[in-house]
Amino acid sequence: MSTENVDLRKQLQQHVQSLRGAGVEWAPLGPPLETAQPCGTACQPVPTTPPEVASPPLSLLAAADSGSVLTLEERRQALKVLAEEVSKCTQCAALASTRTQTVFAQGPAGAELCFVGEAPGADEDAQGFPFVGAAGQLLTKIIQGCGLKREEVYICNILKCRPPGNRTPLPNEAANCRGFLERQLELVKPKFIVALGSSAASNLLNTTQSLGKLRGRFHDYKGIPVMVTYHPAYLLPHRAPEKKRDVWEDMKMLLTKMGKPIPQKQA
Ligand code: SF4
Repeated sequence: MSTENVDLRKQLQQHVQSLRGAGVEWAPLGPPLETAQPCGTACQPVPTTPPEVASPPLSLLAAADSGSVLTLEERRQALKVLAEEVSKCTQCAALASTRTQTVFAQGPAGAELCFVGEAPGADEDAQGFPFVGAAGQLLTKIIQGCGLKREEVYICNILKCRPPGNRTPLPNEAANCRGFLERQLELVKPKFIVALGSSAASNLLNTTQSLGKLRGRFHDYKGIPVMVTYHPAYLLPHRAPEKKRDVWEDMKMLLTKMGKPIPQKQA
């Protein structure tokens, strides 16, 4: 089996296990698989070999692999299952022992725009939702300044647990949580992503480039355009509020890419 297929099988099996853990016991079967290639005498029939390990139904595996074959409601349900799985996660022992609760996300499956931040802070850890403190209120203003509603965008973080003292996530913590983020984004299927701050950008995009070098152009995350801008916490009065102007420039670039009008008033 190729490396790609091994990775695919592993991802699918993890997802199916999380579905089973949440009590999902069945999924609709897809169409039968072709066992031969209709390409003339040069091609040999593809042998049907027994699976190497006990596997879930192929239709469920395929559905779990990509949100594209799931209905919106199925994606909503799968996100709930994933959030439940995250709530029990203890991969980062230090974070799991100090968190009040995990902070999965806020926003609808199918949101056109997704904001990805770094990690929950004290307010988020207490309330269980991302970006609800002072920085979160500023993010809401930025969203509204773009002519959007907070309820229509999806907001999540690289880490689902608060690092003590709001320290920057450690590389192994970001790596531990990466699978959750990837599955989350597969199910939400945003058309555009905004990475908030250098930590979110470097982890999402797997880059060591500085935020200054990443700003001002679009990057790619699995075919989704990614805009990088400052974290709202950096824009608060005691830090660098003058950078709000730069964020507005980034948002204008994003709105243009999204084909949306640019509101006259700055956020
Ligand atoms: S940060 Fe992510 S991987 Fe680490 S314990 Fe929390 S949910 Fe699990």
